[in-house]
Amino acid sequence: MIHDKADLASYLNNPIECSCGRMHLAGIEVVEISEGALNKVAPYVKERAYKKPFVIADCNTYEIAGKEVLKKLGEEGLEVSSYVFADPHLSPDECALGTLLMNYDPSCDVILAVGSGTINDLARFFSFQLDMPYFIVATAPSMDGYASSVAPLLKNNLKTTFECHVPKAIIADLDILAAAPREMIAAGFGDVLGKYTCLADWQLSAIINDEYYCPEVASLTRHSLEKTIGLSSGIARGEKKAIGELMETLVLSGIAISFVGNSRPASGSEHHLAHFWEMQLLWGGREHVLHGTSVGMGTALVLQMYEMLLQADLDPTTFQTIGAPALDGWRSEIERVFLDGAAEVLALEEVAGKNDPEKHQARLASISENWDTIREVLASVPTPARARELLEEVHAPFAAAQVGIEPRLVHEALVYAKEIRARYTILQLLWDLNLLQDFADRIVPDAVN
Ligand SMILES: [Zn+2]
Ligand SMILES: [Zn+2]
Repeated sequence: MIHDKADLASYLNNPIECSCGRMHLAGIEVVEISEGALNKVAPYVKERAYKKPFVIADCNTYEIAGKEVLKKLGEEGLEVSSYVFADPHLSPDECALGTLLMNYDPSCDVILAVGSGTINDLARFFSFQLDMPYFIVATAPSMDGYASSVAPLLKNNLKTTFECHVPKAIIADLDILAAAPREMIAAGFGDVLGKYTCLADWQLSAIINDEYYCPEVASLTRHSLEKTIGLSSGIARGEKKAIGELMETLVLSGIAISFVGNSRPASGSEHHLAHFWEMQLLWGGREHVLHGTSVGMGTALVLQMYEMLLQADLDPTTFQTIGAPALDGWRSEIERVFLDGAAEVLALEEVAGKNDPEKHQARLASISENWDTIREVLASVPTPARARELLEEVHAPFAAAQVGIEPRLVHEALVYAKEIRARYTILQLLWDLNLLQDFADRIVPDAVN
């Protein structure tokens, strides 16, 4: 049984027998989120009898924490090697990984990454490939990937998720986290806000497709999400206690992924929108938007979809007469929208058959039968107005236009983001009901004309 109000430490390295019938386990040994936590890095490395860490940072994170970590390791009498990327806007791609490989010191026995999203993803993959343990010293509460076991990297310009391992330890110094740039803190909050919709999406799929769902993991995530949302004003002011809670929720979200074995408890339609924009901006050679920022904006849009479906006057007894949405021209639309990524999207559909007419009919029967329960889920999420209010409170962009994403890309994301993953969400439910295009047209009228 998972106690959703228990201390985070009680979930670590501790198999939990769950009412869902599974055993849940997170392999992280230590999560240290506290003031002055940076001082604990070197003793921890020494205690575990590691002889020579290889420290990875970029020029920003080196100044923020890397320099101090290296100094402390030296003071503990540890030998150390390091590589500091000169580019603070590093992409997690072949070039960055090749650079690490060329600068790596093979006499090292543990990887110590200092940074947030990109550095963490690179170090996770790099250490996994070398079969070495790794620690992450977090420099910003900006995303929920710290405790995750997967690394999203750019392979041939395409965002590809690699199954790796979790860090042995996550060390986050509140003095450093609270001093992180405001937009990074706001991005972390956006990533947390997205848990409302991903949990609801997960429930929808459990109801409609009988997908595995763990109520205890969902409740753990929801409890921690709500605690963080309740601290929004403290987070906006950069108060250490509130920032610490935000970081805990971000770490817990990764732990929930480990518990379930996939990212269901942390990622749904709001993440599909975010991934869609991330790829489109990359392919267009445009300035990237922080992951959590895109997730926050995606959440506000998805909540609009939830609200519109709840308010739509639908008769469930007619659902089975809904024909499959026309698929003529779908292939050429995918090629137009996904450019270099189209082949991958088309290949995914071959395997997943999301849009297969027979599967569609089977889902319609289930939707019709479970309509009242589905409506309860639709009603369980916050309103889009509330989401916008929360994002505004922490100074996060709530509309794509605020970060320069034009109406066309918002509209295309609403209609096509569901194609990038074989995961059932509100977007596929709207497609099933033949409402997706219409809702997208109504949400983004500027894109239609
Ligand atoms: Zn469970
Ligand atoms: Zn995320």
